[in-house]
Amino acid sequence: MLRFTHRFHSLTGQTTALLLCAVAVSMMISAGLGYWKLYEVTASNSSIRIDRAARAAANIMEASLPQDFSVKLAADGKPVALQLTARNEEAAMTYSPMYDALLKKIGAGNHGAANLFKFNTETSALDRFATTFRKPDGSMPPPMSIKSGHPAYANLEAGKPHTGEVPVMGRMRLAYLTPILSKSGKLAGALAVDVGWADDLIVARDELRMLIFGSAMAILFAVAAIGMIMMRKSLRPLNELASFANLVAAGNQTNTVPHTNRKDEVGALAHGMVRVVELQDKLTQAAYVDELTGIGNRAKSLLDLGKTLELQPGSKNMAALLYIDLDGFKQINDAYGQLVGDSILKVISQRLCKLNGKNVKIARIGADEFTLIRTDVTSQRYLRKLAEKIAEQVKIPIQLEKTALELTCSIGIAILGRDASTPDEALRNAAHAMNFAKYESRGGHKFFASEMADEAQNRLRIERMLKSAIQNDEIFLEFQPQINPADNTMTGIEALARWHHETDGLIPPDMFIKIAEESGQIVELGSYLLDLACKQAAAWEESGFEFQHVSVNVSPRQIWQPGFVGLVKDILTKNSVSANNICIEVTESVFVGRDEDKVTAVLHELRNLGVSLSLDDFGSGYSSLGYLNRLPFDQLKIDRSFVTNIDTDKTKQNVMSGIISLARGLQLNIVVEGVETLEEMLFVKSIGCNAIQGYYYAKPSDAGKIPAILEQLLEVGSSGKLMSA
Ligand code: C2E
Ligand code: CA
Ligand code: CA
Repeated sequence: MLRFTHRFHSLTGQTTALLLCAVAVSMMISAGLGYWKLYEVTASNSSIRIDRAARAAANIMEASLPQDFSVKLAADGKPVALQLTARNEEAAMTYSPMYDALLKKIGAGNHGAANLFKFNTETSALDRFATTFRKPDGSMPPPMSIKSGHPAYANLEAGKPHTGEVPVMGRMRLAYLTPILSKSGKLAGALAVDVGWADDLIVARDELRMLIFGSAMAILFAVAAIGMIMMRKSLRPLNELASFANLVAAGNQTNTVPHTNRKDEVGALAHGMVRVVELQDKLTQAAYVDELTGIGNRAKSLLDLGKTLELQPGSKNMAALLYIDLDGFKQINDAYGQLVGDSILKVISQRLCKLNGKNVKIARIGADEFTLIRTDVTSQRYLRKLAEKIAEQVKIPIQLEKTALELTCSIGIAILGRDASTPDEALRNAAHAMNFAKYESRGGHKFFASEMADEAQNRLRIERMLKSAIQNDEIFLEFQPQINPADNTMTGIEALARWHHETDGLIPPDMFIKIAEESGQIVELGSYLLDLACKQAAAWEESGFEFQHVSVNVSPRQIWQPGFVGLVKDILTKNSVSANNICIEVTESVFVGRDEDKVTAVLHELRNLGVSLSLDDFGSGYSSLGYLNRLPFDQLKIDRSFVTNIDTDKTKQNVMSGIISLARGLQLNIVVEGVETLEEMLFVKSIGCNAIQGYYYAKPSDAGKIPAILEQLLEVGSSGKLMSA
């Protein structure tokens, strides 16, 4: 049905219908006119014939039975009645074989039938008593009467003649009925004649009507069918162009525009379509291509994701989205300038394109964020390998004018269809996974898991809460002493950030510091913490408590922040703290993705202020001992992972001894972190380390409690109790 109405709405259908209507109307008019003429001729012929027949019949009656009937004529000579003149009217109106002969004579003249009727006073009907009709076997037909309701009855009853069609032997025939009147003027009977020839003319007319209209209809259908076929044929190129336009609109056209070689209107249309396709190509280029790298942009990635997701339900293989984010790219941009940043992005996009294949689509969707969609994935292992390959490509050093940069990237992987059903969801979830990869350790990859979305939400929540944490005085410091195991005296003390949230309670620094670093809030938070630490140092200085130095943790982002050295100086001055009472702890990550010279310069400036510098978490990550002699550090803090179970682990013992002798050679102080047990302490002490920070001596606690803790340590230290505890 739809197809049918569709046809009807088509140009072919409409034109054919219009043509059909025009042909139909003209044929109907000519057929109607022909039929009307025929009708007229038939009518006039019939009326002349029936008129003549009636006159002849009446005259034959009068001439054959002059003593019984006389004809009454109208002015134009038509018989209006037969007057009975018989002496015995009853006898004259009764059947006798003589009437058969008389009627036969009348019928022969007419080429039709003749009947005589007698008025029945009892039934008021006119009963036939003589007729020319016979059954096929020659016997008389059944009796017949003209009663009320018969077309001629009313005229006859009124004593008038009747002309018109009347039912005769089962069909309608044109007849003339002349009333027979008694001498008293009453209706006594009737003489009915019809004309076979005129009757046949009517039959012929009716047959012709059927023929005329039937053939008109047949011709009409034939014309319609031929018109439809021809129109369809001539409109086919238009339909093809229309289908092509649809493909163009859907962005699915692969072939060139058809019919461009034609010279007619279709050709002109095809040329117009060529221009539309060219324009669309340009628009697509502008809408879907990343100008910098020439690969797809975010819109293209979303488009590809949409198409891939659509095909996913029926597909044999998995499809996956890999969300690739360069680690520390912003810092590179800040350090080397945007031009260098741009050229790095181009190099990376070229390398990613090397992994390109028929089933891979690559796009840059943000500054340093790329997506890779792969549709022929067979297993998660395959994706893991792919992620590693990408990481390898990214890692290849990029040569700049002076140095070579080695980049890493974090990759989040979402399985399309399983982890996401819309393009937006796919990007979001793959980004969650990427953030997790980045959060855990840069340069890795992670598959999306539904908890990630919750955690990401949680992270956002913390980020929001952190905004007001400083104003609400929720952030404070705890302090953990560093102890010389030889005499339990304090060599320094580390300030550790704490956050007590109104509803969430204590939020560990491992959680909020990283979030603050990612969001950039660390800059404000860091200087707030430095200020708190200096205040405490000033208070202890004032009270005469000998703490040596307060170590303050400083995030890489703070060091990279322009004007950091000036800020430290201001805070020191503001709190009237001597610079040598403050130690700044940084981790090796301060150099990652940075110009080492620039970072080193900042460290030198800090040292020139008088503060000491400590390299934190040594051994936990990158740990290249090689550059230690080039850097202005005073102290090395050995990571807790080296210390745990050191009393039984020979390898750890060797490494630790090595580090300690190296540090001594470089004239670096050592602080060993995370010493929890007596055994660990004894071993660390045995290899000549003179500063330990760990739960074995003291957990981080309120500044106010520190002097008492130390006093106690000194007491038990001198008595030796703690050592044997
Ligand atoms: P970190 O700088 O390595 O700090 C030492 C961490 O080890 C502290 O955890 C401390 O409580 C813990 N620790 C000390 N001795 C032991 C021990 O014997 N056993 C165990 N299991 N742990 C021990 P905390 O306070 O949770 O801090 C975690 C990290 O948060 C710090 O590691 C540091 O990276 C960061 N952080 C803390 N405060 C600050 C701050 O003010 N600024 C910055 N930028 N980072 C901070
Ligand atoms: Ca530290
Ligand atoms: Ca540490």
